[in-house]
Amino acid sequence: MSFDIDIIESFYHSLPGKIQEIRKQLGRPLTLSEKILFSHMDDRSHIAEIRRGTDYAGFKPDRVAMQDATAQMALLQFMVTGKEKAAVPSTVHCDHLITGKSGAGPDLKSALGTNNEVYEFLSSVCSKFDIGFWKPGAGIIHQVILENYAFPGGMMIGTDSHTPTAGGLGMIAPGVGGADAVDVMTGMSWELKFPEIIGVKLTGSLNGWTSAKDIILKLTGLLTVKGGTGSVIEYFGEGARSLSCTGKSTICNMGAETGATCSLFGFDKAMSDFLHSTGRGKVAELASNQSDNLTGDSEVYAEPEKYFDQVLEIDLSSLEPYINGPFTPDRAIPVSQMKEEAAKNGWPLKVEAGLIGSCTNSSYEDISRAASVVKNALSQKLIPKAELIVIPGSERIRVIAERDGFMDVFREAGSEVFANACGPCIGQWDRKGSDKNEVNTVIHSFNRNFAKRTDGNPNTHAFVASPEIVAAITFSGNLAFNPLTDTLTNSEGREVKLSEPEGIDLPPTNISGAETGYQEPAKTGNRNEINIAPDSERLQVLVPFKEWDGSDFSDLPLLIKAKGKCTTDHISMAGFWLKYRGHLENISNNYMIGAVNFFNDKTNLVLNQLTKEYDHVPSVARAYKTAGIGSVVAGEENFGEGSSREHAAMEPRYLNVKAVIVKSFARIHETNLKKQGVLTLTFSDKEDYGKIMEDDRFDITGLKGFAPGRQLDIVLKHSDGSVDTLKANHSYNETQIAWFKAGSALNIFRK
Ligand code: SF4
Repeated sequence: MSFDIDIIESFYHSLPGKIQEIRKQLGRPLTLSEKILFSHMDDRSHIAEIRRGTDYAGFKPDRVAMQDATAQMALLQFMVTGKEKAAVPSTVHCDHLITGKSGAGPDLKSALGTNNEVYEFLSSVCSKFDIGFWKPGAGIIHQVILENYAFPGGMMIGTDSHTPTAGGLGMIAPGVGGADAVDVMTGMSWELKFPEIIGVKLTGSLNGWTSAKDIILKLTGLLTVKGGTGSVIEYFGEGARSLSCTGKSTICNMGAETGATCSLFGFDKAMSDFLHSTGRGKVAELASNQSDNLTGDSEVYAEPEKYFDQVLEIDLSSLEPYINGPFTPDRAIPVSQMKEEAAKNGWPLKVEAGLIGSCTNSSYEDISRAASVVKNALSQKLIPKAELIVIPGSERIRVIAERDGFMDVFREAGSEVFANACGPCIGQWDRKGSDKNEVNTVIHSFNRNFAKRTDGNPNTHAFVASPEIVAAITFSGNLAFNPLTDTLTNSEGREVKLSEPEGIDLPPTNISGAETGYQEPAKTGNRNEINIAPDSERLQVLVPFKEWDGSDFSDLPLLIKAKGKCTTDHISMAGFWLKYRGHLENISNNYMIGAVNFFNDKTNLVLNQLTKEYDHVPSVARAYKTAGIGSVVAGEENFGEGSSREHAAMEPRYLNVKAVIVKSFARIHETNLKKQGVLTLTFSDKEDYGKIMEDDRFDITGLKGFAPGRQLDIVLKHSDGSVDTLKANHSYNETQIAWFKAGSALNIFRK
């Protein structure tokens, strides 16, 4: 079944004319990223003047996707707008709130009970506002989007940072905060600083143990968690064409770990085959008819340095499998070097668990390759030394993997199969004993491995690898095992070597009924009131934030000076807190509880300047709020990297934090803060971070003349009576300054 085929048909009908117009204005060959971005701009009259990485542009995405944890706040905001229905096709996917514990059946049953109120809310809001609803157990948002909605040349946004997965099917698909989704669902254009474009040329072809995952594991190491910030990563070359569509999606998925806006591959046969395999032959036909418009121009790929802002090259033929981690996805270690690295850093070599799946790696190809490793190991009388857990990405994949015997192979190895959901990838793994905080090692095929993200234990060393490497290491029980060279001792005492994985890109035959778990939008007639119980702990009607009072900020106490890495997981933790994603007051009790206080190296313990005592971060913020004063948060590099969750921005706004001043921001978090009316500033001299004292008060001046490109002044008032005067940069444009003045972007819309 092809969803929204009329819209897709009309899109392809108008595309050649748009590309012609763009080509005429620019008068030069075009990258694929430019073709898609420019063709989705709401005003194409001045595209020749747009400077990448500098100018903002308004876009009209084709669709919106939301996962259940972020959809709650997005839809609560949408309800405030008074609109009758979503302006573009939109969907909600129930994947984040299912805890993995006892296996798919019982876990799903338990989630349906625990989260009933939230699921009912989402289902009824979707029904009312013409939004498609994918029920719990139907699959993980990005896998479901890839299998049902993504189409080459399209543009979508999603309230989840791994929305770029759809780039594997040729779509520009950035992850955003819920307020951005509200803009698009209300028919407004979506604003984005026009990205820079990084070209990645892939040469050669994968072989042996190496898979698509290793390409992005290596690239994340090269670019680091900041290197892709503000950029689209466009892949090209013979190596790109040699990859399966789902392999491309794995790469685009984890491109989020470089901070990239999104990643992208050009339309090719692998995409066409995937569309056919998922029942969308009509879309494949439409795309094939204009494949030139769905890939970069040949002149661009012949001389990439002339057209991309940065060019990197990876030779797939010589690429080695990688294992990235622990605690950060950009610590890329080739399997052959893990033994040495682990010894040098004192990482525990004994692997307790291997987890295969998530939205990054649960395609038919992934499952078949991992199953081939397991099957080969069992045939050689090997017994897994670590727990093996499999998490299918969607019901479609689960049913096909079951039908084709792969799940039997995993079960034969004693593995547990969790629900088609995020589970351990978002801290929703109710792992026995994790509360003891023991130092241990796990390996998984997910994308992120920040502290606590897998099982809530800060001492779990989580490493990221391909499904086949995870399977091999699960049998060895040793992080330093290199399946390319090492042998294992089997149950008969013989030394055996694992065979190279074998996989199949796409299932030999399709299945019917793949839309299991889908609830169609009501389209018309369902205009029921959405009721939220006033005493609900999970959901709360939003009260609009107050507008700026027109004055400079003065005498604001420091709430916390965060030290080192401060991701959205540190700012607004997942796991246990996921249940409060629809209740701003309750979830604000997790604000910055994972961030390390620069002054005592502790988490969730900061000085209350009013009482001179130490207390939890949310308690101190509330104390300031109750006293009618705002506060300031300071941080270091890439502040807010990780997830798109806007709770990380709404919580400080709710708690009366007036400004966040850092060395640098991650893109989505900075936009989210701006949208909620929190002032986002960066030190013009990064050394100024060192001048902030624990009991400082801040004056922030120049707000009356707040203008694009104009610095603001900060006066740090130290308790000994001395002061430091700093200059602060910002990246606000006129529209965003209006958000700040109105108190939030939503307030502008409501006016
Ligand atoms: S990255 Fe993990 S938490 Fe996020 S959508 Fe994918 S599976 Fe879910």
